[in-house]
Amino acid sequence: MTQLDCFPYGAGHGEEGVCLLVRMGPYRILLDCGLSDISALTDGSAVSNPPDRAPADVVLCSHAHSDHAQGLLSLHRAFPQLPIYASEVTTELLPLNWLDQPGLIPQFVHALPWRSPVEFQDGLTAELFPAGHLPGAAAILLTYTPHQGRSHSILYTGDFFLSNSRLVEGLRLEELRGLRPDVVIIEGSYGTARFPHRRQQENQIAERMSRVLSERRSVLLPLPMVGLGQELLMLLRSHHSFTGRDLDIWVDGRVASGCDAYLALLPHLPASVQNFAKHQSLFWDDRVRPRVRRLHPEQRPLVGESPCIVLTDFSTDWQEFCEDTPERWLILLPQHLEEGLIDIPPKYAIETYLLAQHCDGASTTQFIHNLRPQHVIFVHGDPNYLSDLAGLEELHNRYHLHSPASGNLVELPIGETFLQPAPPETTYEGELAELGTVVTITLPEAITNDPRWRSISDTGLIEARWQGQDLVLRGLSQRELMTQNTERSPSWMDSSEKACCFRCRHFRGQRCWNPRSPLFNFKVTPDGYCPAFEAAQSANTTWSEANEPTREDVDQAPG
Ligand SMILES: [Zn+2]
Ligand SMILES: [Zn+2]
Repeated sequence: MTQLDCFPYGAGHGEEGVCLLVRMGPYRILLDCGLSDISALTDGSAVSNPPDRAPADVVLCSHAHSDHAQGLLSLHRAFPQLPIYASEVTTELLPLNWLDQPGLIPQFVHALPWRSPVEFQDGLTAELFPAGHLPGAAAILLTYTPHQGRSHSILYTGDFFLSNSRLVEGLRLEELRGLRPDVVIIEGSYGTARFPHRRQQENQIAERMSRVLSERRSVLLPLPMVGLGQELLMLLRSHHSFTGRDLDIWVDGRVASGCDAYLALLPHLPASVQNFAKHQSLFWDDRVRPRVRRLHPEQRPLVGESPCIVLTDFSTDWQEFCEDTPERWLILLPQHLEEGLIDIPPKYAIETYLLAQHCDGASTTQFIHNLRPQHVIFVHGDPNYLSDLAGLEELHNRYHLHSPASGNLVELPIGETFLQPAPPETTYEGELAELGTVVTITLPEAITNDPRWRSISDTGLIEARWQGQDLVLRGLSQRELMTQNTERSPSWMDSSEKACCFRCRHFRGQRCWNPRSPLFNFKVTPDGYCPAFEAAQSANTTWSEANEPTREDVDQAPG
C-alpha cells in the first residue's frame, strides 16, 4: 500500500499559520509555510529529519496571505536549493510579505500555470485551480502515480471561497467535480456558521459606516495588506451610500502597497474590474467623490479633523489616528479576527463587521460532497469551529474526518481500489395544507422529475406509516394492490436488513476488515455505514460471534 500521510507543522488554529507536510509514497511535499518561526522545519526534530537535509522535496504555496506564506523567505534562506512554487499572481503578491526586510530580495518562488499538471518528480504532479478568496489563490491537486498500483491524489483547498467577490471570481466547483481525490485537506475558518447573502453583508457595512459619518465621527479599519481592504475600497467607490459623497478615504501603509500590487495585476483581475479601470483609476482618485487617497506619514496627525474613513494595516500603530480623540472614531474590525491579534484599550468604540472571504458551513459541506474523498482533514480556524464541522453527521457518516492539532501526524490509509462514498440524499422542502378532513402535500418539481417518481405515483395510492416522529410515505404498485389482502411485511420496514457495520460480514473485533472499504482497519461503531457494506451470511449472528476474529481476518490483516 502506498504511504500517505499529513504532518501539520502548523494546522492554522487561531493565530497560528498553516504549514503541512504531505507524504505520498517516497515524496515529501510542503503545503504552505505560514509559520513565523520555522525552527521546527530546520532542526528536523518533528519528523526525525537530519537538520542539513531539506524538510521537503518541493514546496507549494496556496496564496500570498501571511498566515500561509510568511515563513517562505526564511525557508528559502535555510535551503536555497529547495524549489518553491505558487500561481503566477501569488508570486507577484508574495513580496508584500517581506516589505520590512532590508535589501533587494530576488524572486525565489517559481510560477505555475493554472489547470495544467506539472510533474516535479517521477510520478509526482501538482495542478493548480483558482480558489477564489484572493487573486492568485490556488487549490492544489497532488497526484502520485507509482510504477505499480493505482495513483493517489490529495486536494488541498488553501483558503477558498465559492462566491464571487469584487476583485476575484469564486472557485468553480465544476472544475473539480471529476477529480475524485482520495483526500481533501480543507480550511474550516467559519465552521458551521451560515452567512447572509453577500449583497446584504455589503449593505450592512455601508449603512453602518454611513451612519457613523453622519454623526460626525470617523471610521478606522485595521486590515490585512491584501484582500479585504481592496474589496472594501471597491465597495465604497460603488455603493450608493457613498457615490458622489464629499468624503476622504485614506489608505495607509501596506494596504496602500497592496493596492499598488493589485494595479500591477490588472490583466489577471475579473473582466468587470478591468472594464471599470478603463474609465477611472481603480483605487487612487482624488477628483471623483468619494476621494480615495494614499496617506503619507506626515499627513497622519491631520486625518480625522473632519469625518473620514481610514484603511490601515494591522501591523502599523493604528492607535496613532485616534488615541487623542477616541470619541471621534469608530474602529471596525473584521469578524472572526482572532481577538489576540489586536490588544485594544477600553477607551475605543469597537464593532465588528462581516464581509466574508471564506466559505460558510453550508458551502464547505457542499464542497466536500461534490468531491467525495475518503479522508477529509480540517485545518485553519478556531479549533472549536473545526470540531463543529468534524461533528456534522452528514459528514462523519460518509468520510473519515480529521482535525489534527499541530505536531500530530494524520495517517491516511487508502485501499487499492477507490470506493467513492455515495452522494448524500438531497432534502426537499414541501408544503402541507389541511382543509377539513383533506390533507394536501405539495412537493417541488425536482421530486416529480426524478425517474423514481414513476414507481411512487404508479397507482396514485400511497401507504403511510409512522417511524418514530416521522411519517414515511411510499407509493403502492399495481402488483402490491393485487396482493393487498395477503399478509405482508415489506422489506423496507424490516430493520434486520438495515445496512450497517454490525450486519456486515467484514465487521469483527469492532474493526472493519474489508480492504475495499474506506473504513478498512479502522475501529468502527456497530451502527456505522460505508458503501462497501456486504450483508453477513446469517442475520442472526450474535454479538460474541461477530467479535471473534476468524481465519479470513488474519489473512486480510494489513501488514
Ligand atoms: Zn487567506
Ligand atoms: Zn488563511
